[in-house]
Amino acid sequence: MTQQARARLVLGNWKMHGSLAENELLLAALRAADTNSSSQIGVCVPFPYMAQAAQALQGSAVSWGAQDVSAHEKGAYTGEVSAAMLKDFACRWVLAGHSERRAYHGETDQTVADKARAALQSGLTPVVCVGETLNEHEAGQTLAVIRRQLTPVLALGADAVARMVLAYEPIWAIGSGRSATPEQAQDVHAAIRAELAALGTPQVQVLYGGSVKAANAASLFAMADIDGALVGGAALVAEEFLRIAAA
Ligand code: PEP
Repeated sequence: MTQQARARLVLGNWKMHGSLAENELLLAALRAADTNSSSQIGVCVPFPYMAQAAQALQGSAVSWGAQDVSAHEKGAYTGEVSAAMLKDFACRWVLAGHSERRAYHGETDQTVADKARAALQSGLTPVVCVGETLNEHEAGQTLAVIRRQLTPVLALGADAVARMVLAYEPIWAIGSGRSATPEQAQDVHAAIRAELAALGTPQVQVLYGGSVKAANAASLFAMADIDGALVGGAALVAEEFLRIAAA
């Protein structure tokens, strides 16, 4: 399947940033964005601001989502937020397995797959994040790590995987200002695409994440298997984020 057949998607991950006042300005600027952008656009906001995002973006070209979800449907899981709760706020996306969740909250490859399944069961689109550490990168283990991380996700089956988005985010590129080169990213995306093709789901969008900015977005998006971006820091500045989406 050619890249042209897969829509371009640019998602912002606000991480733990924002306030009601700051968000109001950012959301208003996104809402006013040119709806003819060549990319689908979405923002993944902190849980407390989901209602604010829903209200501000409703009816616009920009969709919204969350940065995490519980693997459980409901019950005694203090502090967790279920997929059904997110659905109440018309969320479209939910990140699953962002490297910061894996590193600081002990999320395993299986937990990430369980979260993706929970999201799908409520009609959300999980954006499953994978990526290697700098040590793994330098040891030439990138593809082995990505395959290991993807194994329980792909085991959910073709019907489930067809309704996901994947994001390759090398950990050494996140927040570092040092993006993977387009060629480095493409090599990994091609390997992910091969796994998807083997499952019968080559059409799944695979985003790149890691220090994406307006200045490097076009060269990344020119790669055959890069279908868009997951953007952290640059998603907090409306003009920069929209320039990435327009790249
Ligand atoms: C991210 O947090 O998913 C990310 C890619 O961050 P940044 O764009 O800041 O590297």
